[in-house]
Amino acid sequence: MICIACGTEKEALARSHVIPNFIRKRLTGEARADGSKKYSFKWVDRKDLPKQDLPKPNLMCEKCDNDLGARVENGIAALLMPNCVNVHEEWEKIPIFPHEINDVFAEPLTLGVYDYPLNELWKLEKFALSVAWRALHDLSKNGEAFSSAFLGSARGSDINKTVVRHLFHNDELPNPYYTLQTTYDASIYYWSPSTAALITNKVDEMPFAWTELTEDDEFLGVAVMFAYWVIVWPLFEHDSSQYSTKLKRLNKLCFWDWWGHVRKQLNS
Ligand SMILES: [Zn+2]
Repeated sequence: MICIACGTEKEALARSHVIPNFIRKRLTGEARADGSKKYSFKWVDRKDLPKQDLPKPNLMCEKCDNDLGARVENGIAALLMPNCVNVHEEWEKIPIFPHEINDVFAEPLTLGVYDYPLNELWKLEKFALSVAWRALHDLSKNGEAFSSAFLGSARGSDINKTVVRHLFHNDELPNPYYTLQTTYDASIYYWSPSTAALITNKVDEMPFAWTELTEDDEFLGVAVMFAYWVIVWPLFEHDSSQYSTKLKRLNKLCFWDWWGHVRKQLNS
């Protein structure tokens, strides 16, 4: 088996988290008197997966898996959420500001974005990219057609290598000015617990899923939802004149089509 990060052939790969384990640890809460947890996870399209654990596909070798944890995930929990996730006032201290996404619904869709000093923002961006990158590889390994074709293409392979160098060796991402055909920004949005409950239709369940977003035979990107967050990674090819149109299509696929699909799955 080949590690998606260092490309080394290994007899066995580590079981990697696509969604880091700290998410589960902080959000599932204390066990109740009967031993059950405050929240359970609700997987979309995968009823076989455990409700109290996050799936761990074989993606990376032991070393790369550990490296990613140390390089990218360290300190992220504290940026994403407060220590006491059950105290509303603690959430108020996290710098989350409303951000409107247009052209999905008749009214703008308001999600939260983080507003930290640049250094912290870069850490968060790197984390979001690392989650989306793992999801892309997991989708490909599961035989999803567009993700596999993308990683097998020259352009996809280049993007993959650039992301690996950024995540594991701290190389800077190419300046967007010179790379109009490619975007490396995976955006992370926060939604309120009430939105999460709206999606699962239950106050004690949180949605977890990732998907490739495609339309008319075009691969537009990858999205990951976990608990109170959603990450959207545009992977479409574009020149400057097409960028905003394609981004609108991607957002609509994510926040209209995919959300609708997830809600339907979880409520059926
Ligand atoms: Zn490796």
